[in-house]
Amino acid sequence: MKYLMIFMCAMTLMGCASSSEWRVNTVMVEREVSKTLQLFPANTKYRVLIVPDRAAVADEYARIYGEPTQAPAFYSSRENLIVIPRECELNILRHEIGHAVVQAYFKAPIPGWLHEELAQRSEIP
Ligand SMILES: [Zn+2]
Repeated sequence: MKYLMIFMCAMTLMGCASSSEWRVNTVMVEREVSKTLQLFPANTKYRVLIVPDRAAVADEYARIYGEPTQAPAFYSSRENLIVIPRECELNILRHEIGHAVVQAYFKAPIPGWLHEELAQRSEIP
């Protein structure tokens, strides 16, 4: 668990959002998302898998769920894993981290629509 957190802190993502480059620390984004949602889970132990492109996102989705997806990125509650392409919009990263924060906060499973609603709210800081 410690190692994972160290990995998370050290990790930065780079991407290209409408021609301006961004570089982001996922821990900072998670703090923003927590503030937006007013949800502060004690421990989020999700992993982030950065893949080359959207085709690779679909491959990972198929590996986990056995079906295709058009999603630009996704969060898997089954694996507590965010899969995101190397180049993607920052609001998409916020959205997926929103799912991970929601998952970590609530002890019992919550309805899918509420999960999605909260993730959408976390897109804008
Ligand atoms: Zn979502």
